Amino acid sequence: MTPFVYVAHPTRVIFGAGTLAQLGPEIERLGATRALVLSTPEQADSARRVAEMLGPRSAGVFAKAVMHVPIETAREARGVAQQLGADCAVAIGGGSTTGLGKAIALESGLPILAIPTTYAGSEMTSIWGMTEGGVKKTGRDARVLPRTVIYDPELTLGLPLAMTVTSAMNAIAHAAEGLYAHDGNPIVALMAEEGIRASAAALPRLMRDPRDLDARGDALYGAWLCGTVLGAVAMGLHHKLCHTLGGSFNLPHADVHTVILPHALAYNAAQAPEAMARIARALGRDDAARGVFELAARHGAPTSLKAIGMPAEGLDRAADLAVTTPYPNPRPLERAALRALLQRAFDGAAPQG
Ligand code: NAD
Repeated sequence: MTPFVYVAHPTRVIFGAGTLAQLGPEIERLGATRALVLSTPEQADSARRVAEMLGPRSAGVFAKAVMHVPIETAREARGVAQQLGADCAVAIGGGSTTGLGKAIALESGLPILAIPTTYAGSEMTSIWGMTEGGVKKTGRDARVLPRTVIYDPELTLGLPLAMTVTSAMNAIAHAAEGLYAHDGNPIVALMAEEGIRASAAALPRLMRDPRDLDARGDALYGAWLCGTVLGAVAMGLHHKLCHTLGGSFNLPHADVHTVILPHALAYNAAQAPEAMARIARALGRDDAARGVFELAARHGAPTSLKAIGMPAEGLDRAADLAVTTPYPNPRPLERAALRALLQRAFDGAAPQG
């Protein structure tokens, strides 16, 4: 067997329908007594309900989380946490809310308890991101890893179907790239394959009934595994392209992942046959790239960059940006081939290696 390094991140996970009820004791377990509850404006009601449930253990609610954590929002949230004497942050929501919690923790070391309501997986990583002057910076820091994660599928019953599908594709993307990561290992590969399987298998059931609690549980379990993969190993072409497209052209995060994944897999396929075989097996299909392309299309997700607001004149710049900073990827980064990849993604054409 090839030698490898495996690093486990020490997060406590509480999983199951109704587990939100355990929030109070979990806060105490962290040695905290005053939690600042974070959310987006859209999920302010959920945050207020959580704060009410906590009673005196709630320091207050900060419901201003937005995509990509603008530095101004992070500063304001840090100030509010300090002013209210918060000794922990509870982030209820998707990657944007978890990201705000991380921005607070990065500076203050405040412990985070995350309650994910999408499948983005940020709660399982020590990766933080913040945007200043239109430029998103990311990094890894052990302080931002949530100490406790409560996965309660009941909180995802209302996740709109369109977002359910693209968010699950976002999760699958973490696992797919984890399977060909240069620093991958057999444990991460197990989690990745199972994460793809669980996420993909939940989608047809959620199409039939978005309030199927069992399927919601499977999707969240898949998201947990895929998020763990993202936190454990380095991502390649797919994530770098999505970061560039999302950041430079302000495209919606999960949608970009959904559109790009089949094309990034096709680009890498010949250099990563074992990973492709595992992805295809997890999807129950013959071909990994075509399998994810059809999974997205079958469930009504966008399949072209054009449909999600990418300007055609931005494709050349995106290809330039994609090759400016080299990073490990199974297939070397070739500008002409990447430009062709982006064109296919823009047009919604089938993936092609
Ligand atoms: P998001 O957190 O921006 O949520 C999108 C919208 O959906 C928000 O309005 C949110 O309030 C709403 N929403 C969330 N859950 C809901 C629910 N159950 N019901 C109804 N509405 C709900 O979207 P996201 O895709 O989860 O996160 C994207 C962000 O997370 C990006 O900024 C991305 O860079 C970041 N991210 C970071 C990491 C990491 O490891 N650092 C990993 C993945 C994503």
